[in-house]
This record gives sequence, C-alpha cells and structure tokens, in this order.
Amino acid sequence: MTHTVLLFYKFVNISNPQQVLNSQQNLCKSLGLKGRVIISGEGINGTLEGLNSDCGEYIRQMHQIDVFRDIAFKQSVGSGSCFPRLSIKVREEIVTTKLPYTKDLGPHCGFTGKYLSSEELNQWYGDGREFYMVDMRNDYEYNIGHFRGSILLKNLKNFRNLPDILPELEHLKGKTIVTCCTGGVRCEKASAFLMYNYFKDVYQLQGGIATYVEKYPNRDFLGKLYVFDGRLALGIDTDKPDHIIVGKCSICDVQSENITDYWYLNKRHHGVVCSDCVLRDDVKLTKEIINPEPIKC
Ligand SMILES: [Zn+2]
Repeated sequence: MTHTVLLFYKFVNISNPQQVLNSQQNLCKSLGLKGRVIISGEGINGTLEGLNSDCGEYIRQMHQIDVFRDIAFKQSVGSGSCFPRLSIKVREEIVTTKLPYTKDLGPHCGFTGKYLSSEELNQWYGDGREFYMVDMRNDYEYNIGHFRGSILLKNLKNFRNLPDILPELEHLKGKTIVTCCTGGVRCEKASAFLMYNYFKDVYQLQGGIATYVEKYPNRDFLGKLYVFDGRLALGIDTDKPDHIIVGKCSICDVQSENITDYWYLNKRHHGVVCSDCVLRDDVKLTKEIINPEPIKC
C-alpha cells in the first residue's frame, strides 16, 4: 500500500486555464504524479496516482490555492502503475456534454441537482423511501457494479448523448430521482440537465459511488466500482461473504468480475469475460488494457 489514487473535481470559474495548466504541470511533475487532469473555464477534473506521501503533499498544496481550497479528494489504494503517463489538458468542459446550453449547467452557475450525502442515501435505503436511482454511467461500468434497483440508461452509450436519455426517463418526471456516477462530476451536469428538462425533484449523490462504497462497502451498491485507470474495477471488502457479484461474462453469462479488452467475433470489446472464456480459441486478449474513454470521475 505505497501508492494512492486521487479522484477529484471542482466546478469553479477559472479565468486563465492555461496558467492553471502550467502550475499543475509543475506541481505534478515535482511530485512524480501520473494520471489525467482536465482544466477549463468551468473548473478542474482529475485523477492522479503517486506515492502516498506525494499525494498527501499534492492535496496540501491544492488546498492552499484559493479556488481549490475546498476540493474533496477521494482516495483509494493504487498499484503504482494505474497510469502510463501524466496528461494535463485544457478543454472546453471538464466533463464533455457538448450541450449548447452547458454553460448554464453546474454548481458554478448555481444550477445543479440537490446534494444527497452518502449518509442520507443510506438512510433513504433503510427507510424504504420511494426514489429512483438513475445511473449516469455507461453500460460497461454499470455491468460490473451498481446500486440495487438502479436504472441503467440504455441510450447513454456516451455522456455526450445526454439528450437521448430523456425518452427513457419521461415517466419519472414527477418522481424523486437520485443520479449517481463514479465520483460525482458527471452528476453535477446530468442532474442539472434533467432539471433543465423539467424534472421536478432531482438529487445527486454527493461524492459519487466512490464515497458511498468507502463508507458502506457491500451494502446498497452491489459488485465492484469501475474506474478509469489500470485497476479497471475497485472493490472494497470483496473477500467478505456479503460481497455480491453482479458482473456476468459477456460470452457465457456466468458470474465474473474479470474486466478486460479482448477480440471476439472479429470485434474488439471491453467488458467482463470469465476466467474460462479468456482461454477460448476464439477469444484473444489485447496486449494492453486501454480504457475506452479518456477520463471520467
Ligand atoms: Zn465466460
């Protein structure tokens, strides 16, 4: 346990993203951190790995920067090889929606879903309260782990297709909705997007699934949490008897939590394949695991 992976974001108006990029580059390089950071006029979104002490120093220095003072860093155990390199970029958005009205969505504009803490969500589950958990992640993320009873948005193949999900949720317009994603950044936009489209009672899970599973492992979130780094899936207390496997082999349908990149039927896939099927003659593992999307939190 010498390495830590940090996951973080902050929506805040940044007047000179290039300047922030330069200072992030200096800071990350001086600490030997690898990973991905996106900076835009609307904030910062990143995931980084380094030695435990270097990650601690990164957090300390970030908290000294006025606009990043209150960033909540999610930390998990790294492997030392979660990222091949350091990549810091300036983009239009810190989470890409391509929505024409994206500048009106998000906490920095005062327009986002109501925050529901992990403790409150746990209470809601315990009370049997009526609400609809809508998962704002892709199918390959959902397949390896998700909240019990949560809704997989079949049309959300890519976060840039948010408008495609509206018909799937039309029947929930007057209901209480809670959105969830890995670390919370997608929900800041997605929950606002639903409000913009006349959904009345929209909450978002504060700190995302990463925060919830840390506090309540093997409870309402079943399986493992998909992550966009070399670990691919993050499990907490997966050796305990109350851990439930929800992942199923894409080829033979047996329970599995083994995610990989592979060739099958002349197509490249990214998903769950069981330990038997990886040995099949018609399944070929690709040499390098490549995350299908550049960054999500
Ligand atoms: Zn199989």
